[in-house]
Amino acid sequence: MPHRFLAGVVLIALIAGCATTAAGPQAPLEDGTQTEQAPLSQQHQEFVETILADPNFQLATEMFERERSKTLSTMVELNEIPAPPFQEQVRAEAFAQKLSDLGLADVSIDEVGNVIAHRPGTVGERRIAVVAHMDTVFPPGTDVTVRKEGDTYFAPGISDNTRAVAVVLAVVEAMQDLDLQTREDLVFVGSVGEEGLGNLRGVRHLLRGDHGISSFIAVDGGAQDRLITSAVGSNRYRITFKGPGGHSYGAFGRAHPHQALSRAIVEFTERAEPITQSAGAKATFSVGRIGGGTSINSIPFESWMEVDMRSVDPVKLEALDAAFRVALNTALTVENERRGSAEAMTVDIEDVGKRPAGQGQLDSQLVLNATAAMRALGVEPNLQASSTDANIPIWLGVPAITVSRGGRSQNAHSLDESWTDDGSVFGETYLLTLLLAEAGYGQ
Ligand SMILES: [Zn+2]
Repeated sequence: MPHRFLAGVVLIALIAGCATTAAGPQAPLEDGTQTEQAPLSQQHQEFVETILADPNFQLATEMFERERSKTLSTMVELNEIPAPPFQEQVRAEAFAQKLSDLGLADVSIDEVGNVIAHRPGTVGERRIAVVAHMDTVFPPGTDVTVRKEGDTYFAPGISDNTRAVAVVLAVVEAMQDLDLQTREDLVFVGSVGEEGLGNLRGVRHLLRGDHGISSFIAVDGGAQDRLITSAVGSNRYRITFKGPGGHSYGAFGRAHPHQALSRAIVEFTERAEPITQSAGAKATFSVGRIGGGTSINSIPFESWMEVDMRSVDPVKLEALDAAFRVALNTALTVENERRGSAEAMTVDIEDVGKRPAGQGQLDSQLVLNATAAMRALGVEPNLQASSTDANIPIWLGVPAITVSRGGRSQNAHSLDESWTDDGSVFGETYLLTLLLAEAGYGQ
C-alpha cells in the first residue's frame, strides 16, 4: 500500500514567545540539550482543542485515572522480567501477549526481536509508529525486583523505560475500550537495542523494513515538557595501540603504547578544539576510559581507550571523526619513528557504535501536533536534542520525536533508578492526545 505524505498541508506560524506558559519547575536536562523555540500553529491548536472537548476523549482521561493502579502494576510486572542488552525476548513475549489481549491485529515479533502490533485507520494513507524501547542497560543477573516507598518505585530500568511500555499499553487499552477511531494507521512497537551497544538495532531494522512509517513517536523521556525533536549523533570507538612490550630497563627504546595513546589524546584534543568551539550546534568528545599495561617496570604491550564524540550536526560529527583519525595516525607515526630497531607498533580502531545525527523538522505535522497537544494540556514544550530511538528516523528524514512517559524519573541507568508517580497520567493523556491529532481522530 503506498503511503503518501499529506500534500499541501502548510500552516506554519513560527511565533516566538506565545501566550501559553504553564510548565512546572524546570527539570534537569538529563542528557539532552535545549534547542530552538517551540513552533506554534493556530490550525493545529484548534484541532487539538476539538479532541480535548470530545466526550469519548474525556472518558479516556477518566479511564487513565481509574486504571492508574492497574497501569502501575503492569509496569512492575514487566520490569521484573529482566531485559538485559541483547536479551529482551522474554519481556517482548509478555508485551506482545498484552497487546494481543487488547485485541490489536497481527501482533508479531520480528527477526531482531521488536514487538510490532497494528491498529488500522479508516483511510490508512499514512502510518504512525509509537515506539517504547524494552531493553535496559543492566547486565543479566541484576536484581530488577521493584520496591515501592510511597509513590516512588525503585528498580533498575523502572523509569527508563518500563514506565513507557506501560503507558503505551494504557493508551492502547483506552483506544480499544472506547473504540477511538483514527483516519491513519497506527503501529505500536516495543523496540530492542536502544541502549548502549544495542546501537538502535531494533529501530534500524524497523525502518529498513516495509512498514511504510510516515511519522515516528518514541516514548522515552523524563520531564513532561521535554520534547526531543533533534538527534544527537555519536561515534564511539575502542582504540588499542599494540607493541612488542618488554622490560622497562632492558628493552628501553622499544615503541611504547602508552606514549602513543597519550600523544593521540593530546593531538585529538588540540585538533578537536576548533570544531567544539565553533559557532552553531554543540559538538563534544570524551576519552571515557583508558587502560592497559603490564607492571611498573614494563613497557606495556598494549594501551587502550574508549572514546565517545557527539553532535546534533552530522558535519561537525564527521569533522571530529576525521580529526580523531588524523590524531591516531600522527601519534602512531611519531612514536614509531622514536623507537629503536624493534618491531613497530600498530593501532586497532574498533567501531563500537554509531548513532546518526540530525536536526528535527520543526515545521512537520508531527512537531506542530506535538507542541499543540502539549500546550493544550497546559505545558509549554521544551524542545531538545538527545540520543534516542528517534535518531534513526530523523536521520532518514522521517518526522520523529521523543516524548515524556509521565511522572518523575530519577537516577536512570543506575542501580538506584526510581520513578515517582507524580501526576503521571499526563504521560497517557499526552500520548493519546498526540496520537489522535497526528492520526486524524474523527476525520
Ligand atoms: Zn531510554
